[in-house]
Amino acid sequence: MFGYGRNNFTWNGTLKELKGSHPAFCTERGRPTMAAPLSSSSGLEVLLSSLQNAGDVESTLNILNVLDELLSAGTDRRIHYMISKGGSEALLAALVNNIRSFSPNFTILLPLLHLLAKVGHRDRRIGLKAEDAGVVLLTLNLLRQNVDHTRRAAACLWVIQVFSSSVSAANLIGENHGLDVIYRLIPQYTTKHLYTIKAAIDAFAALLCTKANVCSAVSKGYISGLLRLYKDWHSQGTQRVAVAISHALLRCLHKVTCSTAGRQTLVSQGGIRLLYETTQTSLRDKTLESLVEPSVQLMRKCVSKTPLPLTSDQSAYTFPLPRRPHTVPDVDTEPDESSEESDDEKSEDNQEADYDDDLETDLKKLRLRPDPDRPKELLPQYSRLCPEISHDFQELDLSSEPEDSSTASASSSSDEEAVQLNSFPCRSSRRTRRCGAASSRSSSGSHSETETEGHTAAVVQLEGCDFHSHSSILSTSPSFRNMVREAREEASQDQRGDEQDDEAEDEEESNHRTMIDKLLERHGAFIPHHEPKLYYSVAAKTKSIPGFSILAFPDFWGHLPPPGHEPMAPRKPNIQRQKVLADVQRFLDTEDIINQVVFDLEDSSLQGSSDSLRFFSKFECGNLRKAIQVRRYEYDLILNTDANCNQHTQWFYFEVSNMVADVPYRFNVINCEKSNSQFNYGMQPVLYSVREALEGRPHWVRTGTEICYFRNNFCSARGRRRTTFYTLTFTITFKHNEDVCYLAYHYPYTYSALKAHLKALQNSVDPAKVFFRQQILCGTLAENSCPLVTITACPASRGWRDMHQLRNRPCIVLTGRVHPSESNASWVMKGTLEFLCSSDPVAQSLREAFVFKLIPMLNPDGVINGSTRCDLNREDLNRQWLKPDPVLSPTIYHTKGLLYYLNSIGKSPQVFCDYHGHSRKKNVFLYGCSMKETLWQSGSTVNTVGLKEDPGYRTIPKTLDRLAPAFSYNSCNYLVEKSRSATARVVVWREMGVLRSYTMESTHNGCDQGIYKGLQTGTRELQEMGVKFCQSLLSVTNDMKALYNSRLIKHIDLDHNVLDHKSHNCFEDDEPPCVEEIEYSTDCPPLKGTDLESDINNNMTSADEEEDDDEGHREAKHQQGVGQSTLKSCLVPHLIRQRSTETLNEKRNTCNGVRINGQILS
Ligand SMILES: [Zn+2]
Repeated sequence: MFGYGRNNFTWNGTLKELKGSHPAFCTERGRPTMAAPLSSSSGLEVLLSSLQNAGDVESTLNILNVLDELLSAGTDRRIHYMISKGGSEALLAALVNNIRSFSPNFTILLPLLHLLAKVGHRDRRIGLKAEDAGVVLLTLNLLRQNVDHTRRAAACLWVIQVFSSSVSAANLIGENHGLDVIYRLIPQYTTKHLYTIKAAIDAFAALLCTKANVCSAVSKGYISGLLRLYKDWHSQGTQRVAVAISHALLRCLHKVTCSTAGRQTLVSQGGIRLLYETTQTSLRDKTLESLVEPSVQLMRKCVSKTPLPLTSDQSAYTFPLPRRPHTVPDVDTEPDESSEESDDEKSEDNQEADYDDDLETDLKKLRLRPDPDRPKELLPQYSRLCPEISHDFQELDLSSEPEDSSTASASSSSDEEAVQLNSFPCRSSRRTRRCGAASSRSSSGSHSETETEGHTAAVVQLEGCDFHSHSSILSTSPSFRNMVREAREEASQDQRGDEQDDEAEDEEESNHRTMIDKLLERHGAFIPHHEPKLYYSVAAKTKSIPGFSILAFPDFWGHLPPPGHEPMAPRKPNIQRQKVLADVQRFLDTEDIINQVVFDLEDSSLQGSSDSLRFFSKFECGNLRKAIQVRRYEYDLILNTDANCNQHTQWFYFEVSNMVADVPYRFNVINCEKSNSQFNYGMQPVLYSVREALEGRPHWVRTGTEICYFRNNFCSARGRRRTTFYTLTFTITFKHNEDVCYLAYHYPYTYSALKAHLKALQNSVDPAKVFFRQQILCGTLAENSCPLVTITACPASRGWRDMHQLRNRPCIVLTGRVHPSESNASWVMKGTLEFLCSSDPVAQSLREAFVFKLIPMLNPDGVINGSTRCDLNREDLNRQWLKPDPVLSPTIYHTKGLLYYLNSIGKSPQVFCDYHGHSRKKNVFLYGCSMKETLWQSGSTVNTVGLKEDPGYRTIPKTLDRLAPAFSYNSCNYLVEKSRSATARVVVWREMGVLRSYTMESTHNGCDQGIYKGLQTGTRELQEMGVKFCQSLLSVTNDMKALYNSRLIKHIDLDHNVLDHKSHNCFEDDEPPCVEEIEYSTDCPPLKGTDLESDINNNMTSADEEEDDDEGHREAKHQQGVGQSTLKSCLVPHLIRQRSTETLNEKRNTCNGVRINGQILS
């Protein structure tokens, strides 16, 4: 069964049989239960021990053969098992013995080295073990002595590659000139000895894992050598091995460019151009495709970082904060990583990794209500915010005269009521606290106070900005004025000549306004709850940091959703790669680069060339800091960070004009901060065309092609913040010449729009039926008012019973837009408000069942000034709920105060919901709070059996899943995260005991389920969501049954399609990886289908590396050899060849572990 001899080796038995037939396995006798070879530890150990002690060549060879056979079949587990049994050490010891012997015998050394490479490849500690065994330098010397024997050299190189997994081993080799020895083995393009060449490059790359070796390689000038080699191999080698060699050279380049000096050298040696040009070739040749990605990444890595062309990283908008010295604008603070991501988005990144870590497992924190953050005495002031309780409804007695204007004025006057809260005086006294820096209209004389506080510099600066001063006349943008003037000139030709240009500016202005009035009359669309003139008058009172005096046309004129749905944009294949390459080309070929600043928020005198686009953003919600014309039809756009801040960019809204129709313009927003975006998954920005509006289509529409989002090479202007910036690029082809257009991240919804909308709503309700009261919750830091709206049904009469019912109605509190960029939240809120005021019977029932308290915009200042995340205090207001500061976060402080008050009078809200927008997920969904689910999900050991929890928090999401097409129940979760402990949802749940406390997240993009699947959401769908949310509240009314049975259920359109939809798993709803997402790691992406083992195996099987082989033969064999990693066991044929002229015919039916059959050779 088992025997070995000089010309006769075979073994076709099993290890089990082997035990009995060879003295070495005697110890195994008496353990007949062993079935599989590797389940026998001692069998293996005996083999390994024999290997180290075997004296003669034949027994060593045989042991190596058996080991190789065993390891070749089955999975890696066998190798790991062998490693655990000291396999690496045994092989290393055998190697030492053989190298140190009087004359190294390559008959043994070659198979030994091969086996060592295969095993060591899987052994993470092989480098250290090799050092301990003293093998590292021995192997290097062996290589030195055998550089002319390619097969031997290759074997040494693989082992060196494997040893280099240890930094100290790699350094040891480097110190002993290993890099030079190996580098000399890499020739220009050839067809000879390809495996040895590849082994040399791989070993070289492996040695470059250490800083010292990289430095050495850079200083020895190997980068230019590697570039030359790459160019040569790339241009000539299209066979698989040659491509693998090119790829390995790229890997070396990747490694040496991990150092700054390496990158600089690569750039100075013309590496970028070389890579760019070779990539162009690779893109045309399918066989070279695997080289594109590593080349593109290498270029991205090496193209030097370009600071954003800004004088400061600080926002262009600064505002003096109360009770704190005004921060000097240019003091750049490190971004606080923990607060950088939003509540709605952070979870995505962390869901896999530390989701569980973040869950609250402290039962006390989950169950017990903390003490209030303020004394009880401060609560009564909020009674004023419950006018429905104190109101006497005298007007009901006059209901025979519903048109009575006094009723309307009674409620409308409340808009302007300036109730001063005890703890927080809204106006004058607060101003003194705020360093007196803000020179508001009514207190221009209060500057002396500031000097005493020592902030003179800030004051001077702010005076220069004419802070808070409002031009009494709001105007339209210059571009729009030009357009109107043209229109008027055209009109005046047809009509009378009485509207000719006047010299006087006033007259010009009044003419302009007359003209706009006429345009409105002629072209203005009927937009429900929107009146341009009302908007105009409201906007004049809005206070912005820069003192906006110009209205954006869309906000003024109004928006109607376009007819039909807007599908998500298809993504062009390879679009990202194309854009990245175009950016690299910008670095290389500067002839067509214009690099002309055409817009600067801080320099209004700036004029672009006559044929460049014109930009403008100094209006409410506007955000564009700078525009730079890069090429004829390409512009870089830089967004303004949040006011007072040097970070948070995402929201944009700007005007663009002076365009030529039908020309694709490329826009690059180059200072985005989030690492990924729905712009990679079908989302488009929105565009509003003035010409289209004047032609009766006042629509924000989704637009743009070639959209993608990727990391770029910009860094912060001052280079202090370690920020990575991302580019959002899109291409717009305008429809009209000389149009005035607006582009935005999402459908804008300004603070003034909210105020105008509330006024219009107020005017629209029937005061005999609907109790609608708008009040000021509080003033903001910039002295805008934060509106609070109360909506409920008027009692049927002033009788005791009706009044009692009214005063005992439970409350629903809805808030929104705490994050300024989440304008979708405002559109959802608009839907909610309009529905609650409507004559819809469901709305009527809801009003009769509940008192609604709505705070539609928790962050007016952030919204007005075009911020993305924060308020003027540069805080994320949705992280302030635990202990909000009355001065710095007034809207949160007083919203919480109102909730405390409601709690204190036994009217804790039945439902609380904070409306948000989500930039990285699709659909609309809710986050709620559940103690039990949190404990379960966290894997907590707390026994939840005895814990009681009302499951009612699921009712609304379940109902919404049936009612709202955009809603995805499976995206909802009810986990209480530690990182969200200061958010509205968690605080209202924990501190106010509100069971149904939610965050509602609406996508900026669209849906991937339900009837809206594949469509982007528009304002129609967002408003619908607001309606559906209200309808879902029926599910929590006390008299739910009656409501459903009587008349209401039929009003809810339970679309069968909607009922059908089953959404996907909530924990998988992160975006699938983008098909061609650029890997941002600095490492070279691996070449598929190649690894060390297949190289070794291929080398051995192809039997072509004998020193003087015939070339023609070899090439053919290479081609078949590479990639055939299925041939695992290769030592045998090799050994046989060493000993006999016969070749091994059959070695294919290698068994999978138990039987190993071989051919008997004789
Ligand atoms: Zn949000």
